[in-house]
Amino acid sequence: MSEQTSSPSPARPAKVIKSEQEWKIQLTPMEFRVLRQAATEPPHVGEYTDTTTEGVYSCKACGAELFRSTEKFESHCGWPSFFAPLAKDTVVYHTDHLLGYPRTEVRCATCDSHLGHVFSGEGYDTPTDLRYCINSIAMTLTPAPEA
Ligand SMILES: [Zn+2]
Repeated sequence: MSEQTSSPSPARPAKVIKSEQEWKIQLTPMEFRVLRQAATEPPHVGEYTDTTTEGVYSCKACGAELFRSTEKFESHCGWPSFFAPLAKDTVVYHTDHLLGYPRTEVRCATCDSHLGHVFSGEGYDTPTDLRYCINSIAMTLTPAPEA
């Protein structure tokens, strides 16, 4: 998952680096807790859990495009779920052991904010067998223009 051989996508914005104090001013307290302190919003309450609107999900902290509605699927887990990010290099991965077992954390590649976790091998009928379990509050959906 961490191979560096792919070429970066052209739309990739420059890295965003801010102090925790700057993030605190920009974000709401709950956004700050999730994006900068890796908290998890409660299940089934997030704005985008069951959203089927077509569009692009961007990072709430820096605006980088992260996921698309075309890779979103119904996982019934209580959080928005995607089987792949918008592009390989829009997110980065960190393994954490906060619950006593390894989990793969997903962060925004542009500003290093926490987004959620990715789980594999759960048997969902998707092309990747991956579930990117992402906090709604970490993203902003920009609906696609009407065709
Ligand atoms: Zn970001």
